[in-house]
Amino acid sequence: MTDGFGRNINYLRLSITDRCNLRCFYCTPVQGLVKLAHDEILRYEELLRLARLGARLGLSKLRVTGGEPLVRRGVAGFLQGLQGIPEVEEICLTTNGVRLPELAEALWAAGLRRLNVSLDSLQPQRYHQLTGGDFFFQVWEGLQLAEALGFAPIKINCVVMRGLNDDELSAFARLSLEYPYHIRFIEYMPIGTQGQWHRRYYLSTEIIQAYLKPLGKLEEIPPEAAAGPARRYRLPGAKGELGFISPISQHFCPTCNRLRLTADGRLRPCLLSDQEFDIKTPLRLGASDAMLEEIFRTAIRRKPQRYPLGALESYDCHRPMASIGG
Ligand code: SAM
Repeated sequence: MTDGFGRNINYLRLSITDRCNLRCFYCTPVQGLVKLAHDEILRYEELLRLARLGARLGLSKLRVTGGEPLVRRGVAGFLQGLQGIPEVEEICLTTNGVRLPELAEALWAAGLRRLNVSLDSLQPQRYHQLTGGDFFFQVWEGLQLAEALGFAPIKINCVVMRGLNDDELSAFARLSLEYPYHIRFIEYMPIGTQGQWHRRYYLSTEIIQAYLKPLGKLEEIPPEAAAGPARRYRLPGAKGELGFISPISQHFCPTCNRLRLTADGRLRPCLLSDQEFDIKTPLRLGASDAMLEEIFRTAIRRKPQRYPLGALESYDCHRPMASIGG
């Protein structure tokens, strides 16, 4: 499906819960998350129906996220259900990895192969401070297990923050020498913390790359046809890759191919804009497939050309990241 600006929208991100077992300070409002009531959250059979309709319309690439998707019971069975949709070409999961040691085998058995694991520090104590959870070693164990099982690619998402973890950038990049991981450095975005974005923590990709200069020349990996927003590089002789995601310094709206389904059943065409389309109410009122497909089409037609101008200054996104699905 093509939106009003000629972009091919083929990627649906499904937030399957707003619950999370971590409290990363940049993701969780200081006043705490107001949890959605259980019956507000889409049931698995509702999610599967919407994923099936979306896939028929061309949303063939799916990402399951949250909140923390691995805290929702039955997630492996749900992933297996997604695998059964013929038009789906790719399924990925984004997780904080805390429950990977317990669940990696079940996820593998469900047919999942692609994993993104969020990890902002390689220092256990700092990890605890940033996330509110003392789980560094669990996440590390989960990564090793996933690698041993054969998951590929395994991407490690690191949100870079000045003064909080920017002294670890080389250590993160060096991981790609020894392990086949794709380390992705993500610019800290003003999202979901309701006015609590701290500009002083923001570091642009240009500066992040400057920090990595002493490691040697980065070889650029040419983008693939349906590439995501990361610009990809490799350190000489590395098993893995480095990626840079620059939503702020080089916004990638012109190539954005995404639509999001929030945990409470709203289609959200742009991460940084609060415009949403309620698909849960009609779904629960018995709407036909054709009616629901029309809501997908409308959301895609109305996708903004770019995120709100000046999003950094007068920030417009009010829903916490946990329920949007990052
Ligand atoms: N719980 C899962 C996880 O930790 O990956 C999935 C949901 S989490 C909201 C998805 C991603 O959003 C994580 O990689 C997280 O670091 C990122 N994220 C959340 N808030 C962010 C912000 N303000 N700027 C940049 N990335 C952010």
